[in-house]
Amino acid sequence: MSLIVSKVLSGLVLMMALMAGSATGETSESQISPAVALQPFLQQVRPEALKAGVSAATFDRATRGLEPDPQVLMLAASQPEFVKPIWEYLSGLVSDARVSAGQERLVEYGETLASVERAYGVDRHIVLAIWGVESNFGTAQGERNVIRSLATLAAGDERRPQFWRREFIAALRILEQGDVAPERMTGSWAGAMGHTQFMPTTYHDRAVDFDRDGRRDIWDSVADGLASTANYLKAFGWRLEDPWGFEVVLPEGFDYGLSAPGQGKPAAFWRKIGVNRPGGIAIRDTVSPLQLILPAGAQGPAFLVTGNFRAILRYNPAEAYALAVGHLADRIAGAEPVQGAWPESDRPLARAEREELQKRLAQHGLDTGPADGIIGRQSRAAIRSFQRTRGLPEDGYASLQLLDLLRQAGGPMKE
Ligand code: CA
Repeated sequence: MSLIVSKVLSGLVLMMALMAGSATGETSESQISPAVALQPFLQQVRPEALKAGVSAATFDRATRGLEPDPQVLMLAASQPEFVKPIWEYLSGLVSDARVSAGQERLVEYGETLASVERAYGVDRHIVLAIWGVESNFGTAQGERNVIRSLATLAAGDERRPQFWRREFIAALRILEQGDVAPERMTGSWAGAMGHTQFMPTTYHDRAVDFDRDGRRDIWDSVADGLASTANYLKAFGWRLEDPWGFEVVLPEGFDYGLSAPGQGKPAAFWRKIGVNRPGGIAIRDTVSPLQLILPAGAQGPAFLVTGNFRAILRYNPAEAYALAVGHLADRIAGAEPVQGAWPESDRPLARAEREELQKRLAQHGLDTGPADGIIGRQSRAAIRSFQRTRGLPEDGYASLQLLDLLRQAGGPMKE
C-alpha cells in the first residue's frame, strides 16, 4: 500500500495501511460506489494541465475513452472497523520470508546498494527495507492505471479533490517527459508508483536517474527506485552516523511520562536513569537526540528513536510503519527479533470504542479534537493527562482497561 500519500490523507487511510490486507478489513461505509462522470472533470482540468506544461497530444492520448474506476473510490472511502494490532502488523511485514528475501537482495544488488549509500548517505538496509515493505522488493507495485485512478479520485472523492487533481496533473507531466510508457505507468489505487511507491508530485521532486540511461524509471530500474528513495530520506535529514533507533529495557519505577512527544534526550540521559538495550548493553551515543516510544503502551516493548525515524515517518506518518521499516532493516542485517513481549491478550479498540473513549475523555474536560475514532496526537495527549491525574503509568495508550476505567469514572454517556 502506498505511502507517501498517507501523509496527506487522514488517519483514515493510515488505518487502512495498518490493516495491510487484514481479513478483519470490513468496511462500515456503504459498499455502493457513487457514479462518477469523468468527462466533465477532464474538460475542466484540461486547460490547467496544458498550462502546467502537458501538451494537448499527451493529455488527449492519456484521457481518450477513460472510464472511472469505481473500486478506487470504494477503497478511498472505506473505514476499517478494527485496526490491526501493531504486533500483527509487524509480524506481517517483517516475516521470515521477507527477511530472507531482503538478505538475498542485499547480495544480488550489493553494488547498487553500496553506491546508493555512498551517494546519498542513507543506510542501505533501510533502503532495502522500504523496498520490501512498499512493493515486496518490486514484485507488488500495483497494476492500476495511475491516470485512471487519479482522474477518478479527483472527480469523485469529495474530501480532497484538490490533492488528487494536483497528483493527476503531475502524473500527466511524467508522461509528457517521456520517462515511462503510458501503459507502464501503473500503481496502487491511490496512484503510488514503482518499486518504492512514489506519488507523482514526489516523483517530480525526488526521483533520480541513478543508472544514467536518461530516464527516471522507478518502475523498471531497481537502481533508480532505490536511489530515489535514498534521495527522499536524505531530503528529510537522514544521518548515516545514527541508527533509526533500537529497542530498550526500562528500569523498575520508570516515569512513563518521558515517552511523551518532544522529549528527545541525549544517550547519556537515558543511561543515567538506568535505560539499557536488551541484555544489559549500554546505549550508544547518537548525533540526534533519542526519543522514547511505546508502540503498545507501558505493557509492551520500548524503543529509543533518532531523527532518522522521523525521516522514515515522512514516507508514511504511522509509527507502526516506521518501526516495521527499521526493524526489517535490522533483521536483514542479522539482528534478533524484538525481545520485549507484546501485550497480545489486549485486543485493540474497535472504532466505536475509540470514539467512545474520545467522548468520555471530553467529558473529563480533555480535548481530543473531534470524536472521529482516530487516536492521534491530541487524543494521546488527552489520555496522558487523564492517566497523570489518576496516578496511572502515563503512556498515552488507548487500551480497553483505560476505556473501562473511564466508563467507571463517568456517568451515563451523553451523545
Ligand atoms: Ca534511469
